[in-house]
Order: sequence, then structure tokens, then C-alpha cells
Amino acid sequence: MISNKMVGFVQNNSAIRAMFEEGKRLASIYGKENVYDFSLGNPNVPAPDAVADAIRDILANEDSLMVHGYMSNVGYEDVRTTIAESLNKRFGTSFTMKNLIMTVGAASGLNVIFKTLLNPGDEVIAFSPYFVEYNAYVTNYDGILKEVPCKAPEFVPDPKQLEAAITKKTRAVIINNPNNPTGVVYPVSVIEEIAKVLEAKQKELGTDIYLISDEPYRELVYADAVVPYLPKYYRNTIVGYSFSKSLSLPGERIGYLVIPSEISDFEQIYSAAAIATRILGYVNAPSLMQRVVAKVIEEKTDVAYYDRNRKTLYEMLTGLGFDCVKPEGAFYLWMKTPMEDEKEFCDMAKEYHIILVPGSSFKCSGYVRIAYCVSHETILRSEEAWKQLAEKTLKK
Ligand code: PLP
Repeated sequence: MISNKMVGFVQNNSAIRAMFEEGKRLASIYGKENVYDFSLGNPNVPAPDAVADAIRDILANEDSLMVHGYMSNVGYEDVRTTIAESLNKRFGTSFTMKNLIMTVGAASGLNVIFKTLLNPGDEVIAFSPYFVEYNAYVTNYDGILKEVPCKAPEFVPDPKQLEAAITKKTRAVIINNPNNPTGVVYPVSVIEEIAKVLEAKQKELGTDIYLISDEPYRELVYADAVVPYLPKYYRNTIVGYSFSKSLSLPGERIGYLVIPSEISDFEQIYSAAAIATRILGYVNAPSLMQRVVAKVIEEKTDVAYYDRNRKTLYEMLTGLGFDCVKPEGAFYLWMKTPMEDEKEFCDMAKEYHIILVPGSSFKCSGYVRIAYCVSHETILRSEEAWKQLAEKTLKK
């Protein structure tokens, strides 16, 4: 018998993964080039060459016992210092290594922080549509995830609705910007209003409400979109960052948390989070990868590649008559489905070998997510299939 909690998790197992498996099944029947798999947010741009160079350099020149050994649970001091300095240069902050904890990607950073902050019954607010793993991360610590829907067609958070959702039990609000699944970048004006609501509510309720900025897509922005750095707008902000998408290293599991000294109960939270890394069983972030990211901290992925995909796909789909949210960040396109039941639409798309993720997987029906982190050729080749799907589903 498995635990009661795991029964729930198993039942809600990710539909994204299920679609990915379906894509693989279709590819084995029809050939990879005849299946247009837009299901998974797995970067298709290779990691910058500097990553492999850094690995070779570290293995050749650094002390192997040190490179592969245990270190402080929060990560190597020099690595944290390098990252803090890079953030300070970019955002005008004044972090030191004492504000950083190296993590096993964004997923572990979020788990560490929820483990650190949540008592059973505490509430965490997320703006839907949202990355649905948040549910598992919050219920893992017996917290309750409360959903505040973003309004279509802009899909930006509504500060008034946030205000109405906050209670004495609200311990944290999570913001994912640029957003998975919508590709929307929440602008400064909205962040300022959210900060105002949170400040006022903290005062009114006499509680601390932490804003958790989940930002694995921070570097993936297009045209002139700007992603606000949340600690500058709200004092009680904790940032979760990942190199999974920014350097195309999702399998290497490397990221970090920034816990600014200004937050309430900083010392207690930082040291508890450091212990949470051990309790969660990962102890410290992968040591070689810590050393690598410090060496390549100024490197960038090929955003232009995703941008070309974004433009081609958006123009193709809107040209066919589909109603799409124009993506400004991440590598997802959010499309309204012609019929209300988006799962039915996904099933029809499968008939043309197009694999999509239904919006209900992100708590928002009537939409689908199209991950365009695929080869440009895949997008071009998929045009005929999209055309047929449009003919079948769009009303003339
Ligand atoms: N948060 C969001 C919004 C994501 O989309 C993802 C991964 O797709 C994660 C967190 C987890 O990222 P990581 O691979 O760094 O754990």
C-alpha cells in the first residue's frame, strides 16, 4: 500500500507527461518527422559551448576531491558570491553569498521554501493558469493552494481579486513571470499594485505574506518586454531561479534561491531553508554543476531561435483563424480552443499528429498550451496539419 498522500499525487499525475508519452507512441508508428510534439518545455536550443568548456576546464584544473565532495548545504561560497555579484550588477541589489542557497533546479527551491514556511492549513495563492506542480509542492507540506484566476484575454493577475483572496492564513503568494503556460510577461504596473495589496494586507492582518518569484524563464523574453525584479518592489520577496531553461540544462538540476536580508525573520528562514535541503534528501545542489554555472554566469541561450519560432507559429496560427495570446516570454503559446472542451480539441489535434497540452492541466479550460521549444523545421512542417485542424474545428 502506498501512503494516502501519494494516492492523491498519483491520481493527479501530470497530463503534460502523459501527452509527451503519447507523442513518443505516435512517433514510433508514424515516424518522428511526422509527429508535431508541442507538449514538453524541454529546451531544444543546445547549452552554450561555454558550458562544456567549463566542465572540461574544471575537471582538468580543479581539485577533484573538492569538485566532487560535500560542501556547505547551501552551496559553495565562491559560487554563491559570483551569483550574488552578477545579480547586483544586473538589478542594483546588494546580495551576498549569505542570501543565496544553491538548489536542485527551481522545483527543489520551491519545495525548500514551502517546507520552510508552511504549517498545515496555511494558504498559498497562485494566479491561474499556473504550473500545476505547484499543487503538489504545496500539499506536500499540508498547505492549501488557492487559485486566483487571471482574466482573459490579457492573462495578467488582478490585484483586486488577490486582495479578496487573502486571509489570515495566507502565508505566500507565488508569481511566475514570464509565465508558463501563457507566455505573458506581467508588467511593472501590475507588480506595483500587487505589492501595494500585500503591504496593506500585512498591516491589516498583522501577518507576513511572502511573495515567491518563480523565475525559470527570466532570460527568455522577446521584443521589448521587461521582467520586473520583484525584491525591488516588495520587501518580503524570495526568488527561485533555475538554469534549466536559461542555459538549457534541465537534466542537470541546478538553480538557486535568493533570500534577501530585508525579509521578515531572515536569519531564521535562511537557516531553516538550509536544513530543509537535507530533510528533503538532496543535501546540496550538484557540486560540479554549481562550479559550472558560476563560470558561465554571463552566458546566454540563443533567445533569437525561440523568437523566430514564436513569430512563425503565432503568425501561422492567427493566419489560420485561431485566437492566440501573443507570447512575450518563455517558450509557450497559449491558444483559445474553438470548442469549449479543450480536451476534445487535443484529441482532434492528435488525429493530425499534433500534440498539445490541455489548459485544464494548468487550471484553465478552453485553452491549450503549445510549447514551441522545438526545431524550426518542426513548426514549418506542421503547417499542413494545423490547416486541416483549422478546417475541421473553426466555424466558417
Ligand atoms: N516553475 C515553472 C513555472 C516551470 O515551468 C518549471 C519547469 O518547467 C519549474 C518551475 C521547474 O523547473 P526546474 O527544472 O528548474 O526544476
